[in-house]
Amino acid sequence: MKRQQTPDSRELEASREMKLNPFTLSFKDDTEVQYCKKYYKDTLVQFRFSFFLVLLMYEAFGFLDNRIDPQFINQFHLIRYGIVLPGLSAVLLLSFSKNFEKFWQEAIFAGLLLGGVTCAVLTLKAADNYSYYAGMILIFSAGYYFIKLRFFLAAIAGWIILIFFNVGAFTFARIDPEMLLINDFFFVAINFLGMFTAYNVEYYRRRDFFLNLQLDSRNAEIEEANRSLESKVEERTHELNLAKERAEESDRLKSAFLANMSHEIRTPMNGILGFAELLKVPGLTGEEQRSYFEIIEQSGARLLNTINDIVDISKIESGLMEVLISETNINGQVEFIYNFFKPEVEKKGVAFCFKTALAHDEAVFHTDSEKIYAILSNLVKNAVKYTGRGAIEFGYTINITGTGNTGRPAELEFYVRDTGIGIPKHRQEAIFERFIQADIEDTKALQGSGLGLAISKAYVEMLGGKIRVESEEGQGSVFYFTMPGNIEKPENQAVAKRVPGDDEKTWTRRLKIIIADDDESSGVYLSAAVQKFSREILLVKTGIEVVEACRSHGDADLVLLDLKMPVMGGFEACRMIRKFNKEVVIIAQTAYALVGDREQAIEAGCNDYIAKPYKTKDLREVIHKHTEACLSLQVSE
Ligand code: ADP
Repeated sequence: MKRQQTPDSRELEASREMKLNPFTLSFKDDTEVQYCKKYYKDTLVQFRFSFFLVLLMYEAFGFLDNRIDPQFINQFHLIRYGIVLPGLSAVLLLSFSKNFEKFWQEAIFAGLLLGGVTCAVLTLKAADNYSYYAGMILIFSAGYYFIKLRFFLAAIAGWIILIFFNVGAFTFARIDPEMLLINDFFFVAINFLGMFTAYNVEYYRRRDFFLNLQLDSRNAEIEEANRSLESKVEERTHELNLAKERAEESDRLKSAFLANMSHEIRTPMNGILGFAELLKVPGLTGEEQRSYFEIIEQSGARLLNTINDIVDISKIESGLMEVLISETNINGQVEFIYNFFKPEVEKKGVAFCFKTALAHDEAVFHTDSEKIYAILSNLVKNAVKYTGRGAIEFGYTINITGTGNTGRPAELEFYVRDTGIGIPKHRQEAIFERFIQADIEDTKALQGSGLGLAISKAYVEMLGGKIRVESEEGQGSVFYFTMPGNIEKPENQAVAKRVPGDDEKTWTRRLKIIIADDDESSGVYLSAAVQKFSREILLVKTGIEVVEACRSHGDADLVLLDLKMPVMGGFEACRMIRKFNKEVVIIAQTAYALVGDREQAIEAGCNDYIAKPYKTKDLREVIHKHTEACLSLQVSE
């Protein structure tokens, strides 16, 4: 595959071109230092050996001196053994010193000059003896080829020796000009040959070194790339493993959640069906009947709680849960919750109290009152559930930092403190997680969907606050959550229509009502719930029947429409009714209570929607909202 060249990589390539001084052959960059280091390391031993050989030969050729004129022998021996031997030996000895690397080329250069100049002196003195000229050739060869002197210094030394030889020939030597010319011819030739060879040898040695350097850096790059590739592969594998673990985990959690839900639905169902069965037994005392009804009611409430939790969490998960800001008296909420739980707590023999930080008329905030109520009541409910003795206290404190000019608290911090069983440290995060806590083997958990705190956390965060817990196992727990004191009420948000209170004017109308529900018991229940403010009730079981009933009873005021019916469902029936009757109030009801049902029902033409099961009071409120009937009954009950 062709590698694409980026500007960066081209720059790198360019900087890798070999840059040599053509005369000295030195690298023009810091490669020179590296090269010198390596050259010294690689050739030191060879240098010592060849230098020693040259020295040895220089001295061994002393036997020639004996064959020349005896008048020179002393001078020649002095030169050979008194000057050259100690000089070259000194260079050899120095090569064992630690600092030799710093000046080794200069030392060899000096050694070569010494050997060359002295050899020239010997040659000039014994100009008639041809052997000495050959000695000069050997000296030149040694300089260029053997003693590891770099080309540039070897060439300088070579030419200096040659110049010295010629100067000597014209000054102190009696040398035949023809002889001088012939020998100069050889000396010049050996110098040129030596330079040419030494130049090439050194050039290619340097090029090899440079290419090796490049190869090393390429290798290093490849190794680096390899390493990063490996670490990337490792990273990806790790991520994949994590994703796989997460998928398995979520699968496991889903199963655990479903098992828990199944338990939470079946247990109260068991209570309802079992005690309903028992109620059929003849001869039950009034007391027995009352206690059976109580159990059925409690089981129903527990079931409803679980279903509400599931619906809420699914709304939260799908982002359909809305924040509805309205004016709320926080003290009112706290007091309401206190009064609501008081009988239950007192029954358990646990002390119960609340604290508020603001006066009643100062405690009005813009917030989502239903959510604040849901969070607080859920925390208090848990405290009651998990506290067998001691006390439960709840309320709020104010944080006034950052109030600015408004003079209002920047934040309220609610707390619910109990002296119950507490929560082990390792579970204190998990209890806020949706689904996770159902998975934990919790021998202390009492009945519940395990979604309460997850819902509370989501609500707190929707309102811009934070929730946390401080707890000590066996000592008790404190749950805290914050609520910003200045949530702006969004413009154009519909203000929830208030249902008139006891002291306000109430209306009573008698209605003609069509109840459409395929479930017989629901039909009976609905008839009983609306009977007191109805002037006529018609019961139908399918979508087609309800459309027909509306057609033949144009004076009907209200249709209670089940959305799931055989033959024709509620949505379609509603659409058909709206084609010929736009006046009749249609209230949809369903046991599915799925996300989007309400919107769909309104879109089909229903006036409102209520999820089963509902309390008679809630049903009447919805009916009142659209017909202004029935509230007086509610009050009087
Ligand atoms: P549930 O709806 O089942 O009560 P929650 O989400 O409200 O579920 O609570 C989750 C878990 O947190 C409970 O099962 C319980 O173990 C623990 N927990 C919550 N509140 C308290 C408390 N006040 N004291 C001790 N444990 C608590």
